[in-house]
Amino acid sequence: MGEQEPVKRASRTNGAGAASAGGAQGGAAKKAAAGKAPAKRAAKATAKSAAGTAAGATAKAAATKKSSAKAPAKAPAKTSAKPESHLAMVRRARRINRELGEVYYYAHPELDFENPYQLLVATVLSAQTTDLRVNQTTPALFAAYPTPEDMAAADPEKLEEILRPTGFFRAKAKSVLGLSAAISERFGGEVPDTIEDLVSLPGVGRKTAFVVLGNAFGVPGLTVDTHFGRLVRRWKLTEQTDADKVEAEIAEIIPKSEWTMFSHRTIFHGRRICHSRKPACGVCPISHLCPSYGEGELDPEKARKLLKYEMGGLPGQRLKPPPDYPGRPAPPLGGNAGQGAAGAAR
Ligand code: SF4
Repeated sequence: MGEQEPVKRASRTNGAGAASAGGAQGGAAKKAAAGKAPAKRAAKATAKSAAGTAAGATAKAAATKKSSAKAPAKAPAKTSAKPESHLAMVRRARRINRELGEVYYYAHPELDFENPYQLLVATVLSAQTTDLRVNQTTPALFAAYPTPEDMAAADPEKLEEILRPTGFFRAKAKSVLGLSAAISERFGGEVPDTIEDLVSLPGVGRKTAFVVLGNAFGVPGLTVDTHFGRLVRRWKLTEQTDADKVEAEIAEIIPKSEWTMFSHRTIFHGRRICHSRKPACGVCPISHLCPSYGEGELDPEKARKLLKYEMGGLPGQRLKPPPDYPGRPAPPLGGNAGQGAAGAAR
């Protein structure tokens, strides 16, 4: 993939910057060709009702932005018996990206960070827990150990205690100590900005590396996490289950310049609407593009109750969300999140 080329150290962005960089595509969807989504479809009346509710669900989030972030409210497409051509699938994928860009104009990385090192550590800590819980833990962590050198010199037991809320805290403390020492010793205290160097750090895999490249260094990257994989398979954009193969196939159909934001939008959709066990199809704003419409709850009233975070009127995952985030910030550790870390959609 193109990310493997060494890149100049780009201006370091926080989540807000990354979000705004990709949020300017709103009107493009209007010009898009209509996609034909092969799917099991409910009766017209149900579809109409679902689309109307989708408008309600997204309009609340969009209300704080005066831009063209209109609430999509399109009925699911008619069933087609014809298999979808590759070209039609590519067009549909790009339309999904554009329309999600209108719904989630504020899509951003959901880990709080102020520099590449903080994002790298936060991403490592996010394994097997929620971004919310990581965001509630890292303020104390970075206050105690602000630099890789500080972290590498930390007392392991004290570090473990700080990391305890994130789970698997002994293993995570070991990873953080190891990667901090490597950054200090091999990279002069600066997080490297190439995929090869990043994955050479202890505990850093391709997914973590792409999160850092895409959001701290502005290098396009696809983040294939559990939400991303599930959704692109529901959308029939790939049948692969191996993360590297999913990444390779999606990279063929989504333009490189969109990789980072497509990842954020897809993960936002997976966390808020298209959940693992019970997707809220009845209020899904892209149901007209989804072959899996009907896999989840179709009743708009019941589906609306499944919405998470700002879509459901609940706090988000970041304690410090970007300025255009239409929801409420997450509370600090011990605060009332409205939906606790344990039960929050990841
Ligand atoms: S919520 Fe339902 S209609 Fe929407 S993307 Fe997921 S499976 Fe498809």
